[in-house]
Amino acid sequence: MNYTIPILYQKEIPNLPNRLGTIFDQAIDNWQRSAAHDAKIRVFFRADDIGVPSKKFTKLIQLFQKHHMPLCLAVVPAWLTARRTRELLSLTGSDDSQWCWHQHGRLHKNFEPSGKKQEFGPARSREEVGHHLELGQSRLQELLQDKFSPYFTPPWNRCSLDTAQILKSLNFNAISRFTGAQPDFTDTIAGIDVNVDLHTGKENSSERAADKLFDQLHTALGSGYCGIMIHHQLMNDHAFHLLDLLLTEVAQKNTCEPCLFQDFS
Ligand SMILES: [Zn+2]
Repeated sequence: MNYTIPILYQKEIPNLPNRLGTIFDQAIDNWQRSAAHDAKIRVFFRADDIGVPSKKFTKLIQLFQKHHMPLCLAVVPAWLTARRTRELLSLTGSDDSQWCWHQHGRLHKNFEPSGKKQEFGPARSREEVGHHLELGQSRLQELLQDKFSPYFTPPWNRCSLDTAQILKSLNFNAISRFTGAQPDFTDTIAGIDVNVDLHTGKENSSERAADKLFDQLHTALGSGYCGIMIHHQLMNDHAFHLLDLLLTEVAQKNTCEPCLFQDFS
């Protein structure tokens, strides 16, 4: 995988603590005016492309531990080995209540000959898709044992309806894509989609990228449901600073209820 730091984090984002604080205050106000009485805003974080220990992974885990915040970890089965599992688990510690270790594809490889990247798109047969999903599931079950939770995040946030049906038959509880993803899985399996992208935006100026991120946050929080996607390989000091401030806001606001996937089913 090739990771380039996004333009948003190539310099310091001006006035960041105030801007984030204002977004939270306004969005909470909107939510409280539209929602029934004291309903909470459900907030969850999903970190993709997990499986290889690194300084950035360590920093990510330490940041969530510092704030006592839950984190859903989307693990690529083909990247995980017994040695890597031991290293990752030595960082996350013995308290499992903070994490949701779940499946992120199998190889994290594109199989579509054209168009958007997908590992589990329409290009492969239903049999092949099923076989690979099962291989990935059993690898994670073997390595993570009872820490493994039956949730699936497709690489690039996309997969076919066949994939959703097979995951259901493999006893997965839900799929997590990006909000609005197609095809519609409503009648097949539950969706716990993210709606805020911290690190993979493709805007061509840092101002525009910041505006887009703040818009996403404002809309998501104001709707009472905020799922935040993280890619630690794309983070630098500026990105860790933003995440630190974001976690501070979520932790301090009583209206926000930090969740794991398990809390939605
Ligand atoms: Zn990924």
